[in-house]
Amino acid sequence: MKILVVNAGSSSLKYQLISMSEEIVLAKGLCDRIGLPGSLIKHKTFDDRAVTKEIEMKDHKDAIASLIKVLTHEQWGVIKSLEEITAVGHRVVHGGEKFIKSVIINDEVMKTLEECIELAPLHNPPNITGIKACQHTMPKVPQIAVFDTAFHQTMPKKAYIYALPYEYYDKYKVRKFGFHGTSHKYVAERAAHILGKPLNTLKIVTCHLGNGSSIAAVDCGKTIDTSMGFTPLDGLAMGTRCGAIDPAVVTFIMHKEGLTTEQMDEIMNKKSGVLAISGVSSDFRDLDTAVKQGNDRAALALEIFAYQVKKFIGSYACAMGGLDAIVFTAGIGENNDVMRSMICDGLEFLGVSINEDKNKTRGIEIDISNEDARVRTLVIPTNEELAIAKETKKLICEC
Ligand code: ADP
Repeated sequence: MKILVVNAGSSSLKYQLISMSEEIVLAKGLCDRIGLPGSLIKHKTFDDRAVTKEIEMKDHKDAIASLIKVLTHEQWGVIKSLEEITAVGHRVVHGGEKFIKSVIINDEVMKTLEECIELAPLHNPPNITGIKACQHTMPKVPQIAVFDTAFHQTMPKKAYIYALPYEYYDKYKVRKFGFHGTSHKYVAERAAHILGKPLNTLKIVTCHLGNGSSIAAVDCGKTIDTSMGFTPLDGLAMGTRCGAIDPAVVTFIMHKEGLTTEQMDEIMNKKSGVLAISGVSSDFRDLDTAVKQGNDRAALALEIFAYQVKKFIGSYACAMGGLDAIVFTAGIGENNDVMRSMICDGLEFLGVSINEDKNKTRGIEIDISNEDARVRTLVIPTNEELAIAKETKKLICEC
């Protein structure tokens, strides 16, 4: 069984074709600058055949047609025809309260997806465009939607209701949703596998630390709380996002600087986070370099980030009434051993104790704890595409 995974953005579309029997990526790539001059496709196969080619792609339909062409191409292809694609799994950012798990897409699902647009006006429209393009090009192939929000739909009301007039929840669904759900679910399941214990017996804090970062409390396999909120702006200070701040600061700054809502939104999403604290970069590798050169604000940015992650781990251990494991994943979580050390430093009272030699490893699943640590600390590379493909396979096999 071969499953195509599609992650459609407004002007780009990432794809992977995965063979499910061996769980290997046959080919992956990116259609970039869709609808813009100089649109191009970058494509790479499992056996290192690679091509980057400028192709006119006016819209997502053209992008899907181009990727089918390259997947079936004599020189760069990995399949003979699109008949070999059993199903397509789509990453959809927001499923609102309607979707608590992945679904096979039909007309009714499409209607509900459209209703979720107002919750994620930047992300859901391109996701929907990607689905429509695949339906157009592959009308007989089942399409499955896998939501970033779905895994967190198990949160209890006490975790997701904001202390605002209740009518805003009733009227507009203003509540905590949480994101990165596919990644949190994947690494929690892998953690249970590595620890050799059933997931439904474990209390795990999963730390997805990348450009966008979020933390989840996964109690017996279910999210009971997570750091992102109504939007992915909440929680930790991130690459360029401010994370949780006193809400009154927003109106204060708008008033002082004479900013529109759009300008303030842009500042909080694109001009804040560790980029703003350091004045150097949103990329943690650049911050590490700046710290080595004696940049105090870069050091402060890293300290703030580690401090915030540490506080979430502590509060989620309390929320779950215990802690069996911490999982680090995504760009920073998987690769930045210094940041992992900074976060874990001081958590010994909880039973966390990491081995600095093991902590230096990167790119593999590993338990970096000392033998006698009561709480296991794991590094698990996330694989959202494989997780989407597995969800897709599960739904196809069920029906
Ligand atoms: P996104 O949220 O865009 O998917 P990533 O998960 O790729 O982000 O994370 C980006 C962050 O991860 C950057 O701050 C970068 O410094 C860090 N990162 C990514 N790869 C590495 C690496 N090989 N070594 C150190 N840091 C890395």
